[in-house]
Amino acid sequence: MIIKKDKDIIQNYFEDNSGVRGSNADFVAIAEKEEDISVFLKETSAKKAPVTVAGALTANTASGLAFGGVVLSLEKLDRIGEIKRIDENNALITAQAGARVNDIKSKASDEGWLYPPDPTEKNAFIGGNIATNASGGRGFKFGGTRDYVKALKVAFADGSIAFIERGKYFADKNGKIAFDTNRGKKEITLPKYILPNIKNAAGYYNYPEADLIDVLIGSEGTLCVFIEAALKLIPHFKEVFGGIIFFDDKNKAYRFVRNIKDISTKTKTENLKNSISVMSLEYFDKNALLLIKDDYPVMPANAEAGVMFEQDIYEDNSDILIEQWIKEIKICGVKLEKVWFASNLSEFEKFRVFRHRIPEKVNEIVKKNKVPKVGTDFAVPDGKLFEIIDFCEREFKKAGVFNLTFGHIGENHLHANIIAANEREYGECRQMYVRIAQKVVELGGTVSAEHGIGKLRHVFLKKMIGEEGFKELAKFKKSLDVNGILGVDNIFPRRYLI
Ligand SMILES: Cc1cc2nc3c(=O)[nH]c(=O)nc-3n(C[C@H](O)[C@H](O)[C@H](O)COP(=O)(O)OP(=O)(O)OC[C@H]3O[C@@H](n4cnc5c(N)ncnc54)[C@H](O)[C@@H]3O)c2cc1C
Repeated sequence: MIIKKDKDIIQNYFEDNSGVRGSNADFVAIAEKEEDISVFLKETSAKKAPVTVAGALTANTASGLAFGGVVLSLEKLDRIGEIKRIDENNALITAQAGARVNDIKSKASDEGWLYPPDPTEKNAFIGGNIATNASGGRGFKFGGTRDYVKALKVAFADGSIAFIERGKYFADKNGKIAFDTNRGKKEITLPKYILPNIKNAAGYYNYPEADLIDVLIGSEGTLCVFIEAALKLIPHFKEVFGGIIFFDDKNKAYRFVRNIKDISTKTKTENLKNSISVMSLEYFDKNALLLIKDDYPVMPANAEAGVMFEQDIYEDNSDILIEQWIKEIKICGVKLEKVWFASNLSEFEKFRVFRHRIPEKVNEIVKKNKVPKVGTDFAVPDGKLFEIIDFCEREFKKAGVFNLTFGHIGENHLHANIIAANEREYGECRQMYVRIAQKVVELGGTVSAEHGIGKLRHVFLKKMIGEEGFKELAKFKKSLDVNGILGVDNIFPRRYLI
């Protein structure tokens, strides 16, 4: 284990993309081998010292930032194993928690496989992606990180190690799960609160007779330390076809999205071969487009909304699919000169850079302003999206603050970014976010669909599960982490641990 104490050297561990300041720790412990983690946790647990696991620190919820105690980094555990082919449609790859998602994706694609989760920020570690159940643009077709985690090697706060395979340990009818560790059996009981059955990253994942692996995924560094994962791969597509459509009316954009989602659902349920099946559908509102206008001066003028789409192609049917896409674009009243097309992956890569530029630019402004951003991460059930967009727009108008919205419209999951210029505005923006969260919950949605709760969104999660829900979360955490040392203040406030 490498221990770093020099404040100048460890300063890097005290900043993520949340803009939150004041992070600090006594030292940073960098594991050099897997065994270091178990020994370190056992010692730290005995001293009751808080441990914050740091991944690549790309989160924007301050979840990887320590406020006291020690930081545990797995950056040196970055080995990616050989790919194991199961059959023509499935393969497995193992990766240690410090491996970068980009490297896993590249290794898979070099050998003809796809690791489907596609969060915009590819520098994140796989451990961080598992801890937040990261997803991204391609979630509409492929789901999130959870759907591809087949097995996990984890360390619990007492230093015990467990190998958790998907399908091995399930909760019984009373929510009890018993499982093996290298130091004997553990038994836990799941919380009882009910979460909406949509894309969700808020609170510990639970569902009747849940698989233990699902409960640990998305636990934001509070239940265990992920050491290594076995990840499912699927065959890589041959090519992609995609584009960015610039709409002069946002309602045309909404209609386009609705049509494409309906067709894609039909393609899937009826197993159609030559029909549109979109991989990602990303939305940009007018302000999001204006934000990066200087970087992209050729962008069509007066665009009120943009939609980026990506279709994966596996056979020699691209001509048929492209024809269908063009028909759908025209049906929504868009002239083809208002569309940027990409007919292969390398062309489409430029659009992904365009998409990434928006949150990147937001983060630059936030860093400059030195005020945290208020960024929503909500998702709502199908049929409720346009209601929540209207609600947000009314709120933004009333407040008169700079805002922009973009995100995974295919999954009814948008990031509204409200950028405060100073602390006073920040306070008002947070109040506005509470009202938005309330509305999201009323519509049956979640306050976090991919970034998690971290240290900044307790108040929003409370809208979903209430005071009792927080107590249940804390009780559940303590059944795995008796001294309450891991990821303190992530998901629920630390006072519930006392
Ligand atoms: C420009 C930009 C775009 C983004 N786009 C997306 C997106 O499309 N989708 C998305 O989901 N997120 C996105 N994010 C957010 C972020 O990249 C994800 O939350 C990511 O999963 C964080 O991984 P990390 O390695 O950086 O973890 P960190 O930020 O370091 O930590 C995040 C959480 O994971 C925990 N953790 C990290 N490693 C471990 C481990 N080994 N064991 C246990 N807990 C651990 C930490 O304690 C913390 O709670 C974006 C961020 C940026 C800056």
